Amino acid sequence: MPQPLPPAHPADRAGTPAPSARRVNGGLLHSWDLSTGVDGPGTRFVVFLSGCPLRCLYCHNPDTWHLRDGRPAPADDVVREAAKCAEFIGACGGGATVSGGEPLLQPYLAGGLLHRFKHELGLHTALDTSGFLGVRATDALLADTDLVLLDIKSWDRELYRHLTGRRLAPTLEFARRLAELGTDVWVRFVLVPGLTDAAENIEGVAAFTASLGNVTRVDVLPFHRLGAPKWRALGLEYTPADTPAPTPDQVERARSVFAAHGLHAV
Ligand code: SF4
Repeated sequence: MPQPLPPAHPADRAGTPAPSARRVNGGLLHSWDLSTGVDGPGTRFVVFLSGCPLRCLYCHNPDTWHLRDGRPAPADDVVREAAKCAEFIGACGGGATVSGGEPLLQPYLAGGLLHRFKHELGLHTALDTSGFLGVRATDALLADTDLVLLDIKSWDRELYRHLTGRRLAPTLEFARRLAELGTDVWVRFVLVPGLTDAAENIEGVAAFTASLGNVTRVDVLPFHRLGAPKWRALGLEYTPADTPAPTPDQVERARSVFAAHGLHAV
């Protein structure tokens, strides 16, 4: 079961100016890497922060769950590493993405990195989040975020809790706040046969997403079991071990539900 959340720093509450975020020089990281196609537009420098309050049944990175497993690393090291490829990724329309785990578990670090990626390196910035801790994203952090990759894992509230161990409402509240701010958002929805693929569930996510008005893309992500070996290595039971990946037809049908609401679904 998810552990209680560590308290948010007072300056991390939504709406609180957080210039101090720019002074934070470190935190607990899992890793960083380059990726193309899934973490925002173009080629991305992606930094994975440690810690996540959710426990998604199909999580493919359970090794990011615990802060205690993170590697202490100065933000300077991360920015220096991103700087090595900043010219290349900037020139080809890419950028930098702060991911996890759940990056808003360390909002000072996430905000500091987004600020430095954007203003020191001149990169397009993205925040990859479940939205559960959206209240910890300050307005300053969001001002430094060009794109939010927002996971809406289910519309059915009970199913969301079953899938993640947490409530859906904070994610929806964060989505509405981003809409009010006019922040560019890509919604991500994992299609899991037998869990999230009910017609009314997909329709609910699609209708809500379309109502926001600021979502420029929806990624319908086929469930896969590539994370299963990590669960076993951690001594955890991987419950969807017998769940098949959706067929191409099932994925296309799900995308068509989003498209019917005028959304760009890929
Ligand atoms: S929010 Fe992401 S990192 Fe956290 S449990 Fe879910 S899939 Fe894993």
